[in-house]
Parts: sequence; structure tokens; C-alpha cells
Amino acid sequence: MRQSQLFTKTRREAPSDETSKNAQLLIRGGYVHKEMAGVYSYLPLGRRVLEKIERIVREEMDAIGGQEIRMATLHPSEPWKQTGAWENVDVVFKIMSRTEKEYTVGQSEEEIVTPIAQEYALSYKDLPLAVYQIGQKYRDELRAKSGVMRGREFTMKDMYSFHETQEDFDRFYAVAKEAYLKVYERCGLTAKATEASGGSFTKKLSYEFMVLTDAGEDDILYCDKCPYCANVEITKEKEGDACTRCTKSGKLTRAKASEVGNIFDLGTKYSHDFNYTFRDAEGNQQYPIMGCFGIGVTRLMGVAVEAFADEKGIVWPESVAPFAYHLISLAPDDGPVRAFGDELHETLAKRGVEILYDDRKGVSAGEKFADSDLLGIPHRIVISKKTVADGNVEIKERTGAEMRIIAKTDFLSSLG
Ligand code: ATP
Ligand code: MG
Repeated sequence: MRQSQLFTKTRREAPSDETSKNAQLLIRGGYVHKEMAGVYSYLPLGRRVLEKIERIVREEMDAIGGQEIRMATLHPSEPWKQTGAWENVDVVFKIMSRTEKEYTVGQSEEEIVTPIAQEYALSYKDLPLAVYQIGQKYRDELRAKSGVMRGREFTMKDMYSFHETQEDFDRFYAVAKEAYLKVYERCGLTAKATEASGGSFTKKLSYEFMVLTDAGEDDILYCDKCPYCANVEITKEKEGDACTRCTKSGKLTRAKASEVGNIFDLGTKYSHDFNYTFRDAEGNQQYPIMGCFGIGVTRLMGVAVEAFADEKGIVWPESVAPFAYHLISLAPDDGPVRAFGDELHETLAKRGVEILYDDRKGVSAGEKFADSDLLGIPHRIVISKKTVADGNVEIKERTGAEMRIIAKTDFLSSLG
């Protein structure tokens, strides 16, 4: 894509009302546009990053048998009253129509998905069933000061599963936990599976997936030798304690972290609320056991910014970067450099390389490099009169200081 055509522009200053690093950088880079506290629009670069994350999430959910659907966002109030969430869940938005009908918008979708499953999965032969969606969620959050990490509107992947037995639920739960760890790893992040209490509706254990970052809103204790990790809110342990799970004499360290997903055993709470039963092998009616599995897609984007950004700007992990290469032309007005850049851009794009081509005229080299640092694209290719005359390109990594000069032909063959 040509940067001269990109309608968004970078800006030097962060907006004064935005305190979080992730939103400051994403707004300065033209990735997002702030509508109000906790609500952002995603512009071309931001949408590309979200799509990368969503693709990873989708592949891993499909791999464990999840079936993708898209549920309604605008909900009638009745199912929410039926489960008690209308009264008991503080983040539920309540909307009144002009004919005084009450509605809500999805903040989680057990109230919608359970009646859907009830329509189709009525026999033990139809179970287990796992459905998921990637879409917008709306929550009346009191505080929205963490940029895209805590929105009043945000993107979540939510999956819901239905099981015949507790054993089958436990089996799927273990599979989902591994899939979650893969999602974070593929996004370039290390997440710890933290044991936590199961939230408002269930006393059962749940896992929260935590990425260490000072921008996080949670406090965790983690073992320095094994994967054990716990939320400070629930555990009686404290910093410096010996790890109770560990065979390697690990010690617990306290750190700030951000929850990028969680998985719950919902038991039969929602099956009871909707009187949803299935026929078991003996012909008896049973209530399915449900699980819910969330991943904060937009939060993951914010966490990636927080985790890797340096003083110059964003540093994207390769797998979620909006483009793999940033081709910077230092003499786009000049015939040979223009022709060289246009051809290289086209060749790479044809090969499927995701490339942003800074072909802007009248922008200084210093400004182009500063913009490139801010945007955080992993690999940079620089062309100028000198390199073009020699048939070369200059290659630099976003995080490296070193600039390598190599022949264009060698560079192209190095891409395979
Ligand atoms: P938190 O404790 O951070 O409020 P939660 O327990 O309310 O999270 P869930 O309802 O389980 O979260 O939602 C699933 C995932 O969606 C969370 O793990 C998180 O990554 C993400 N998420 C939750 N609330 C928000 C929000 N307001 N903005 C962005 N992402 C969110
Ligand atoms: Mg919450």
C-alpha cells in the first residue's frame, strides 16, 4: 500500500486527555480515532492489526472444533431478566426505545447463545457443542483510562460450550486452555494461566490469562521457576512465599498484569435459567454443563503496544504487525528512485509480502524515519539516489541499530 494514499496521518503530540501509552501511540500513529472515553474507531492500520489477531484466534478456535457464528448485538431485555443479569450485572447498558420497550447490547452472550443451542442440541448425540463469535461488546465500565485495554465498546472472542457430563467439560476445558496459550504465543506475548475464582455466578475455578505489563489493572503472584500463577485478590499467598506447586523451590514474585482472556465453568446455571435439557442415552432429560471462553481482542492489541513500545514508538510483534515491511523512498521525486521504488513495491506486493511504501513527496528523511519508528513495522527497506545507483537497498529492523546494505536481487532471493 502507498503511504501517499493512506488517508490517516501521524501526529507528533498525543492528545492531552489520553493518559495511557497504548492509546497515545495508537492515536499518534493514526491506528485509532477516539470517539469518547473508552470508545475508539479502528482506522486502516488499526483494522489490519485487529484482523491479524482475529485470524490467529479464529484458527485456534476452529482447530478445537469451535463453530463460528455471529450473534445479534441488540438484545431484547427478557432473557436478561430471566437470568437475573438485568438487575445484577452492573455493566449492562439499558436502552429504552421510543415505544418504551427495553433492550440491551451484548456485554457477554449467554442469554442469546443458550436459547440458540436449546433449539438444535436436544440429544446427547448433538453434544458436545462449541460455538464462538468475534465481535463488539458493550459495557458500562466506570473507569475507562487504559486506552484500548478497557473500552466501553471493545472486541471480544466469546466461545460457549455445552456438554453431556462434567468429565467431557473437563476434557474440553483442558484443550481450550492449551489453545488459549497458543493464541497468545502466536501474538508474540507470553501469558500465564492464573487460577481465579469463577466470578459472580459460579463458585468453580476459572483461569485468567495474564500478560505481565505495568499498564495492567491486575496484581498477580507468579512462580519464578514453574508456570504457577495466582491473582492477588484471591489467594492468601504473598510475595516471597515459597511456591506450593513447584518441585524446583521457586519463589513467588508480585507483578502488574493485564487479563487477556479467561475461561469459566458455568455449570448448569444457564441451562436451568432457560430450562434447557437434552435427552441422554437412557432417554432421560438432563441439563447440559456449559463453559464460556473469552479473549479480549482489542485489549490484546493494547497489551502488545504496552509490552514492546520504546521511546520512539510502537514495536509490533511480526505476527500482528499491520505490514511486515516498510519501504521508505528518500527521493520519490527523482526518476530512477521513483521507478526503482514503484517496481520493488509491486514485486513484493505480487509475492504476497505485506508492504507499506512511503512514496510521499516533500517529506524529509528525518520525518519519514520518525514516522516509521512510530508506526512500528518490523522491517524497514530504505532506498535513496545512492543505493538505487548501485542496485542496492538498505535493510534495518525496527528494534535494531544496524543498517545493512545489500543488492536488491540478493534481498529478493532472501525472501524465498
Ligand atoms: P476485567 O476483569 O478486566 O474487567 P472481565 O472478567 O470482566 O475482565 P470477561 O467478561 O471474562 O472479562 O471478558 C473476557 C475478556 O474480554 C477479558 O479477559 C478481557 O481480555 C476482555 N475485556 C473485558 N472487559 C473489557 C473491556 N472493558 N475492554 C476491553 N477488553 C475487555
Ligand atoms: Mg469486567
